[in-house]
Amino acid sequence: MPELILRVAVPSPLPQTFDYLAPPDCDPAALRPGLRIRVPFGRRRIIGFLLEINPRTERNPDSLRSVDAIIDTEPVLSPELIALLEWARHYYHHPPGEVFATALPVLLRQGEPALLPVPTPCWRITPAGQNALAAPAALRRAPVQRLLLDHLLQYPDGIAIESLLGVVRNTAATLHALHEKTWVEPIAPAGESWLDPPPARGPSLILNEAQAAAIAAVAAELERFQVFLLEGVTGSGKTEVYLHLIEAVLARDRQALVLVPEIGLTPQLLARFRERLPEPLAVLHSGLGDRERLNAWLLARDGIARVVVGTRSAVFAPLQRPGLLIVDEEHDTSFKQQEGFRYHARDLAVIRGQQLGVPVVLGSATPALESCHNVQRRRYRLLRLPERVGGTEPPIEILDLRRQPLTEGLSQPLLERIQAHLARDEQVLLFLNRRGFAPVLFCHECGWSSQCRHCDARMTFHLRQRRLLCHHCGDNRPADAACPLCGSIDLRALGHGTERLETVLRREFPSTALTRIDRDSTRRRGSLEALLADIQAGGPRLLIGTQMLAKGHHFPAVTLVGIVDADQGLYGVDFRASERMAQLILQVAGRAGRADKPGTVLIQTHHPNHPLLKILVSQGYPAFAAAALTERRAAWLPPFTHQALLRAEAVAAEQATAFLRAGLALAEPLADGVELLGPAPAPMERRAGRYRAQLLLQAAQRQDLHRFLDLWVPLLRTQHRDHRVRWSLDVDPIELY
Ligand code: ADP
Ligand code: ZN
Ligand code: ZN
Repeated sequence: MPELILRVAVPSPLPQTFDYLAPPDCDPAALRPGLRIRVPFGRRRIIGFLLEINPRTERNPDSLRSVDAIIDTEPVLSPELIALLEWARHYYHHPPGEVFATALPVLLRQGEPALLPVPTPCWRITPAGQNALAAPAALRRAPVQRLLLDHLLQYPDGIAIESLLGVVRNTAATLHALHEKTWVEPIAPAGESWLDPPPARGPSLILNEAQAAAIAAVAAELERFQVFLLEGVTGSGKTEVYLHLIEAVLARDRQALVLVPEIGLTPQLLARFRERLPEPLAVLHSGLGDRERLNAWLLARDGIARVVVGTRSAVFAPLQRPGLLIVDEEHDTSFKQQEGFRYHARDLAVIRGQQLGVPVVLGSATPALESCHNVQRRRYRLLRLPERVGGTEPPIEILDLRRQPLTEGLSQPLLERIQAHLARDEQVLLFLNRRGFAPVLFCHECGWSSQCRHCDARMTFHLRQRRLLCHHCGDNRPADAACPLCGSIDLRALGHGTERLETVLRREFPSTALTRIDRDSTRRRGSLEALLADIQAGGPRLLIGTQMLAKGHHFPAVTLVGIVDADQGLYGVDFRASERMAQLILQVAGRAGRADKPGTVLIQTHHPNHPLLKILVSQGYPAFAAAALTERRAAWLPPFTHQALLRAEAVAAEQATAFLRAGLALAEPLADGVELLGPAPAPMERRAGRYRAQLLLQAAQRQDLHRFLDLWVPLLRTQHRDHRVRWSLDVDPIELY
């Protein structure tokens, strides 16, 4: 009998898959793609995934090594998932081992049985816990525990821990703390505990016309691939549309996959899904432990979880009977992985939908220009929810900062408006996307400034810690008391961060309760949830924050939103700066108000006549997107061209550029229809002590770019083995540094 050859993805950084001989005693009928197998690799034994049986191969069977053992009797990966992973590794030109490592749970890759364990215990609230909930004082200092207890109240017969994940960020620790206080207790699971009946369902809403039309459009296409762009301002009822579509899919006995941004996977969102959907739900996000992740993965694969909600890598979640893919906040940059395997989860969701023949719904208040372009090209169908449910959007006003006296970055009109809203006992939110006290410490005597030793960047001054911190490499040291150059003690903090804003506002509004939300103020586990719960409860009247505060959360009592500094984004180095700024402005604006109190948005800028900003403010996002696309077309930029970026870094600048120059020489004879731009230093050339340079590739036709990459990337790998240079390829980069 001819020997069977198996093509296997192994965990290694090498760019190819490997061929092995099937074990001599194995039954050929038992071999199927998706099985895990143990193979010799160098001097090690490792676990790989069988991709193909008897592939077309040039290798002489005599030169192949034999598989040690076949681990599974049933494939752990479906043909569909294998097809997606194979597509992704070719498109992104990335080694299969790293693609599989990103996409699959670590325990699966380590050979753990791919079977759901016996159900873990259920938890329920005790009478003592109910008393604690009823006595407001008992939980005032523990809003996270309150949140979880509140949730448990809905399940008098107990609920499995799997179903509680994501209700708060650190479910296990919170349960433990509650258990210590005897406010919750574990009980024996009844059968398959993840199938507990969901709580009583909230009343279904009467859809408005736009919602009904959007739902009907997608519902008519549930049996085939079609991408829909659901564009609607925050509060226009997009989530409601998702929920109805998911219900339609569940009614057909299919599963739905919902991708949300890193920061968008909030307890509020999950609570709403759990409350509305009659079927078990699995949550996949980066905060899960290995075991939790594998369990959620298996629940999805076995079709027990009918709805899977997750962040970026959940695009690779296995689905037994997929029926619909949804990407919420599709413009969010957290869908793009920025290191290692640099895939874009939204783009892969579209590919997956195509491979599966199911619809894909991309939702956003501020769609990516790429998606708007796909609507213009009639690739995607546009569904619009033009209005906030039962209300209007907050009007946006521009505050011209030119020649205005500023109090630590705040103009008089803004301060007066804050005062007026606070006087009416309304909440005010101020947005500043820069943490720390000031972005630089500066000597008034000689001009010295706090440069980072390892980066072409300044160190941010943090007042409370009295330290200088580099936000790029993490280096930090005590803030200088005197200038290291001239000894002067006239050191000044220039510019504004959230910490400084807090100081100013505490001084201006001394009797107002204030909360700051940024990475520094939420470092402790659970502190973000605690601060947010406090805001929802109406405690603080003034909210200050970075984009941590801008995404995912609703603050219905906020009636004034101030964007302290819009200029950061208007003239950034990256051509996407204005798109990001527009998205951020509307995202922050969307936090404010509710139907009866729509609120106002004020934008401070020194560039009140910036053309795109004016269009955004006066005509809204669709007009902004159209104008920005016109600029992109004229400038010959994505989405009218397609890009890939070859990045290189080394301890010496010359090593990185030499690598890129050699890459350029290899590229020139192959680059048919592809423009080669560079090599050039990265916008921040030195970072963490390494010099960075890049070569940009650009083509009018995507096929030209990929035909070129198929030829060029293998050459780069084989011809350049300067181990001092670290390099990576970024296909469809979203940031050019
Ligand atoms: P989005 O996802 O676009 O921000 P949501 O779906 O969260 O919007 O809707 C905003 C608010 O309006 C929610 O509180 C939701 O319950 C409510 N809502 C949505 N659709 C309707 C409707 N048809 N009738 C009444 N309230 C609705
Ligand atoms: Zn000095
Ligand atoms: Zn640094």
